[in-house]
Amino acid sequence: MTIEQIYHIYLQHFSIQTDTRKLQPNDIFFALKGDNFNGNEFAAKALEMGAAFAVVDEAAYYTQPDKMALVDNVLETLQALALWHRKQLNIPFLAITGTNGKTTTKELVNAALSAGFKTYATVGNLNNHIGVPLTILAIRPDVQIAVIEMGANHQKEIAGYCKIALPTHGIITNIGKAHLEGFGSEEGVRIAKGELYDYLRDNNGTVFVCNDYPYLLEMSKGIPHVVTYGSKEADYTGTPAADKALLGVQVNNHNIGFIQTRLTGAYNFPNVMAAVAVASHFNVPAEKIGPAIAAYTPSNNRSQVMQQGTNTIIMDAYNANPSSMKAAIDNFLGIEAPKKVLMLGAMMELGADSVKEHEALVEQLQRHHWEAVVLVGGDFKKVNHPYIYLDSSAEAAKWLQQQQFRDTHILIKGSRSTGMEKVL
Ligand code: ATP
Ligand code: MG
Repeated sequence: MTIEQIYHIYLQHFSIQTDTRKLQPNDIFFALKGDNFNGNEFAAKALEMGAAFAVVDEAAYYTQPDKMALVDNVLETLQALALWHRKQLNIPFLAITGTNGKTTTKELVNAALSAGFKTYATVGNLNNHIGVPLTILAIRPDVQIAVIEMGANHQKEIAGYCKIALPTHGIITNIGKAHLEGFGSEEGVRIAKGELYDYLRDNNGTVFVCNDYPYLLEMSKGIPHVVTYGSKEADYTGTPAADKALLGVQVNNHNIGFIQTRLTGAYNFPNVMAAVAVASHFNVPAEKIGPAIAAYTPSNNRSQVMQQGTNTIIMDAYNANPSSMKAAIDNFLGIEAPKKVLMLGAMMELGADSVKEHEALVEQLQRHHWEAVVLVGGDFKKVNHPYIYLDSSAEAAKWLQQQQFRDTHILIKGSRSTGMEKVL
């Protein structure tokens, strides 16, 4: 069966599923392979459960030719189908990549654009080789602008996503240290994320660039349309007011005014300004942009601020790497509060640099006074430090319960797998 034929079947149902546990009647089932599963084995069951059609890539499971397509590679078929669909959609596609803040920027941009357009944005964090095509295939014909998050942990990955999404616009949020195992070095990260700029340079694209980061300005040279934002002189200029737990942003031009966000962290300033720049660029009315951004509430333990009795908790347990850890601690230092406690989970996936990065973090911590510091798990165990070390977030939760903190600010952060959100 050709891609075109599969595309016609897809158009009749407009709903793709790769997991039988989430299958709805009339979905089209794509039998993907993972490290621990072979979707082909579930294809017949998917049809039994009411799937309209199934795409498989092993002849042994091609048991119902009237309701199945046998292809060479299901994943490649999914990606080719996404490209086919993309080509039917004559709308701007904004791709967002970078080390930190992709999802937050995507959500803020989408909130601001939604004030003027029908948009579709990546749901949650579906930013990989499966998530990107599934995102594209969920875009209905009435959508006016698409916002696509692209994650990467190795070279050529973003270039591959660009070949499916054909972005017209792009943002690299920043370049920092993460997934160093796959990238080798920060320079490796730069080359990998830069693949988005490379694509846009070659395809008459537009990029939104934070000019507080000179390396991004440098990398964006030669791209036909560059729109800048940031705290310095830029097309969209703002000033962060981050002395309190929640970030405020004064936008200095385009009549947008002051935006009181529900996000913590000065590090969210560029994310907010990206949303201002994109929405203004697409002519969303100025008076609608601020309120749309102000209304955005972070979810999933990303930079959430909560009150517990007299204590203020900054819950940032969604993820951590050396750059975002430093940003979160710098932000925490800037908050005016009498007593500050840090509860930090280890940073994962740092390869050979891991112990060194944890040592550097401990050094940073030692330059300041803290009411208490608790370090949890991973390579914190291998570092000399004067702080409390605990093996798990469960133990950290117990520790916190035993304390009698009052009027205290507590920052909770760590890599996903350390599960630091369980501290509360
Ligand atoms: P992932 O790689 O998991 O998709 P992401 O790039 O989508 O992550 P977010 O989910 O938006 O990033 O944010 C994760 C965490 O990164 C936040 O909770 C915050 O601690 C940190 N962060 C967000 N924006 C920035 C930024 N501009 N600079 C540094 N750190 C940031
Ligand atoms: Mg994300």
